[in-house]
Amino acid sequence: MAVLLLEDVDADDVGTVGGKAASLGELIGAGLPVPPGFAVTAGTYRTFIEEAGIDDELFEAVDVDPEDSAALREAEERAEELILGTPFPEPVREEILDRYRAMGEDGEEAFVAVRSSATAEDLPDSSFAGQQETFLNVREEDLLRRVKECWASLFTQRAIYYRQQRGFPHSEVDIAVVVQRMVDAEKSGVMFTSHPSTGEPQVTIEAAWGLGEAVVSGTVSPDNYVYDRERGAVDQVTVADKKVEMVKDAETGETVQLDVEEERRHERVLSDAEIGDLVELGERVESHYGAPQDVEWAIYDGEIYMLQSRPITTIREDAGGEAGADEAGTGGETPRKSTAGDASSGQPGAASVPNGGEEEDVLVDGLGASPGVVSGAVRIVHKLDHLDQVQEGDVMVTEMTMPDMVPAMKRAAGIVTDEGGMTSHAAIISRELGVPAVVGTGNGTRVLEDGQQVTLDGDKGTIRAGESESAEPGEEFEPVEAARPETPVKPMTATEVKVNVSIPEAAERAAATGADGVGLLRIEHMVLSLGKTPEKYIADHGARAYQDELIEGVRRVADEFYPRPVRVRTIDAPTDEFRELEGGEGEPAEHNPMLGWRGIRRSLDKPEPFRQELAAFARLYDMGYDNLEVMFPLVNDAADVAGITAHMREAGIDPETHRWGVMVETPASALQIEELANAGIDFASFGTNDLTQYTLAVDRNNEHVADRFDELHPAVLRLIGDTIETCRELGVDTSICGQAGSKPEMVEFLVEKGVSSISANIDAVRDVQHEVKRTEQRLLLDSVR
Ligand code: PEP
Ligand code: MG
Repeated sequence: MAVLLLEDVDADDVGTVGGKAASLGELIGAGLPVPPGFAVTAGTYRTFIEEAGIDDELFEAVDVDPEDSAALREAEERAEELILGTPFPEPVREEILDRYRAMGEDGEEAFVAVRSSATAEDLPDSSFAGQQETFLNVREEDLLRRVKECWASLFTQRAIYYRQQRGFPHSEVDIAVVVQRMVDAEKSGVMFTSHPSTGEPQVTIEAAWGLGEAVVSGTVSPDNYVYDRERGAVDQVTVADKKVEMVKDAETGETVQLDVEEERRHERVLSDAEIGDLVELGERVESHYGAPQDVEWAIYDGEIYMLQSRPITTIREDAGGEAGADEAGTGGETPRKSTAGDASSGQPGAASVPNGGEEEDVLVDGLGASPGVVSGAVRIVHKLDHLDQVQEGDVMVTEMTMPDMVPAMKRAAGIVTDEGGMTSHAAIISRELGVPAVVGTGNGTRVLEDGQQVTLDGDKGTIRAGESESAEPGEEFEPVEAARPETPVKPMTATEVKVNVSIPEAAERAAATGADGVGLLRIEHMVLSLGKTPEKYIADHGARAYQDELIEGVRRVADEFYPRPVRVRTIDAPTDEFRELEGGEGEPAEHNPMLGWRGIRRSLDKPEPFRQELAAFARLYDMGYDNLEVMFPLVNDAADVAGITAHMREAGIDPETHRWGVMVETPASALQIEELANAGIDFASFGTNDLTQYTLAVDRNNEHVADRFDELHPAVLRLIGDTIETCRELGVDTSICGQAGSKPEMVEFLVEKGVSSISANIDAVRDVQHEVKRTEQRLLLDSVR
């Protein structure tokens, strides 16, 4: 049998159908309704290559010197050619197509997702195995090719390299493929199986008409139902005015937004009986996983389907509920000790010494860049070579963090830097990792001593001698999520609230905030952590391998948020950062790299790596990631935009049909907004880190002028306010993705001006959602009073 139905497999079948199919089968076995589908077994791939007689040639072709990049590239191409060029044996072809056709209804072809399902359990990281392909909205004409493409993903350059290096025989790795129906929902929504803050047995359900995308993205205000599991009764029903619904276009498979007819707008989406069925499903999912779940569900043709289930990560450990708080949703990171606090409220330069008898204890102070109080032993890090010294629970002290330091930063309980401001690498990454940090101390590496016990306060920006009562070492750390205010569901706001992501590892934490999408996905970290400049990497490993690296990082985020939009930005690293990398010797020496060869000006000047970035995004679109939006940094004028659109077209990304936009980071771009709008942008996003530095002539990374770095300066606000006004007239969306988007004063200002969305740091999303809601309600009240 070439294929097995998902319902016929379970967790023990990993070797036959791969991990993905096995876990879907397991859920079905647990009585959970999962959209139907089947797995093309690993044995089918094996028979395919053996019966066609391409196996020996294939394994020989990929048996190359892993350090020879040209040979690797050729091996990948040859493997792809062999697999894609060999026809399916007729019986296998028939079996797959028969199974597929059986999923269609009323003579209509089914839209399916096709995903590779890895069987190689012995490979520690399946991403190295290359088994990561996903294609959405596939129909019969592409099905067989997509299956083969999943097979060919066993032989990407990375996968070949990895196995060759470790002496793992290519002939022993198999791959299965999942083909699963995409659900064309009539109603859908989300459900928390227990109270998301306290863990109490209270189910909250949000529901709207059509596809879940409308609820998840916040496009529609959904009905809200609260069900008391102890009493076994519906406690509260709030019926919303559901003006729009998302439905799938039957022809193209694309999601379109339609107005809901008058009579259905105010109609209750779920009956008591449906709520009862959903609650029962929720209880089963919760007991299957042994922890409260955040479930995405859909109802189609009277049937409930579970599309996704993840552990709720916001339940407080002290909340009496039974749930453990650190679930897969936090990416398995060590939970951190944290006090309620908000990095966004830490004014640069305002890192004052606390009042009371603590002054004499303060050894060093700086900017409170990531909230929380921790105690630990100081570990001074001067060079990359010494990163191993940083142990779990240490306070890492360094001049400035670099991308290579991220593994050590993850182990650290806290981070201290000499240099940098609130928007520096150290500040951004520590916030995303949920590690308390103080940056820009000026003298941390000189004053603090290796091994010394200290207490770092990431809210106040201080490092004191000794251990603090509120931060005993060795005590169980609390998850950073505990800092969030209690709220059963995220507040529904008209202004979208999104989240910024700079390291793909933070994708799950970011998605767990309930943000409406990613307002800025930076790729600098993905690129710089390769250790080589893009030019050098491409020269050594080939352009395809460079694209693969980007695809892997971006996709981790795009998957986590799908179908919520993710704005991925092309590279914007200054020459001094590239200089640190292998191949960086040739970077120009610039007196002021912030004003130098960076962002779009570099990309347009020297388009080779830029082309590969766009090619990677084009491949992601091809794979079905239609939630991606491309954004371009440091644009000044319409000439820049003309260059951008030419490159997009060349890369096969049609600027007319894909949403894309620019950052507004220079006064020039704000003053030229009309020209930029006429040049075709769909959105403009305020990069206030740069906009502030270029408006006020204050270096954002220079701790000596940090007290002058004021994103709320009237000049900055005027540029932003005027730009929003023009964009509203011209139908261009506006957003903010600079650090200031996490500040309540900025949020209030932007909502008043009519910004379309706000993108905040992970730790600030909840507060920003509340601030947006408060401001929107005040504006509504003002308008009727
Ligand atoms: C900004 O300038 O505000 C921004 C978001 O971009 P970056 O911090 O990456 O320069
Ligand atoms: Mg910027």
